[in-house]
Amino acid sequence: MLAGAPAVAAQTPPVPREVENGGTGSVAYQVKPVIERRQSGKPHRGKVLAAIQPHCDDIPIFAGGTVLKMIDEGYSGYLITMSDDSMAGSGSGHGEVVLKNEKDTIEVAKRMGLKDAIFLNYPNHNMDAWPIIEIRARLVFLFRALQVDTVLVYDPSALYERNPDHYVTARAVEWAAAIAGAQWDYPEHFKAGLKPHAPRERYYFGRGPQLVNRVVDISDFMDQKVNVNLANVTQGPSGNTGARLRKRLADKKKRLPLLGDTDDSANRQYTKYFALSRDRVHGQAHGLQFAEPFHYIGPDESDFDAYVEKNAVPL
Ligand SMILES: [Zn+2]
Repeated sequence: MLAGAPAVAAQTPPVPREVENGGTGSVAYQVKPVIERRQSGKPHRGKVLAAIQPHCDDIPIFAGGTVLKMIDEGYSGYLITMSDDSMAGSGSGHGEVVLKNEKDTIEVAKRMGLKDAIFLNYPNHNMDAWPIIEIRARLVFLFRALQVDTVLVYDPSALYERNPDHYVTARAVEWAAAIAGAQWDYPEHFKAGLKPHAPRERYYFGRGPQLVNRVVDISDFMDQKVNVNLANVTQGPSGNTGARLRKRLADKKKRLPLLGDTDDSANRQYTKYFALSRDRVHGQAHGLQFAEPFHYIGPDESDFDAYVEKNAVPL
């Protein structure tokens, strides 16, 4: 190269990605989903996940397989439940329903291999009455204190979500994750010894239409996912539903061979093939046995950092 010639002339800037919709100008509705398969060798060792749910059955149903896969691949993690779960499930009244759901949730966290279950206790079915900024502040604290690298939560941009606990949680997490790494937000945290720390990866799941760019193959973890969902006996579509169905049929002198011969097999089979049937549908659409779809948002700057690393030259 001639002395004094501008180095940039010989370099081609990277092609911008249009796959994420991460809120930084990368936009596209037409994306080919990445299939995320099981990885060996604990590639995520040292990373921390937060599985965040408004109610005790949300993570088990929509992301339980992915959480199990992440833990298997080296993550450690926490389950954060936002509502007090006082409005759904069996019990003699609100108090008993709350207690039973709380116990179920602790068991769910254990079966997923998570370190702890944290309860923020917002009013079930009424989270839209609560100031979102207060919810966000608590999440920023938790992301910094627990050093959370990856969040799993409802998609704040999914369509037709009608449950306020779901969309308020999603929106609170979205911006908490954005500012937890900033130096000027909640400076009192730093006086107490915390440091800015932001989750860099997000797995958003939705009940309505959403932009799916990541499909996680959970085939190897499906039976474990069933076991996690069975822990939610107070509410949710799983629990003892299979056994109850078996009993109803037996009362009419009938049986479903698919449910097997015991209450336990009935619960497991019902959960695997009916309560969680969407996992089979999503899997088959991508040539997999069972899968969970997500809108995935990864680290923002990686293309640019990689470009600088590769192309920066000595002065
Ligand atoms: Zn829910």
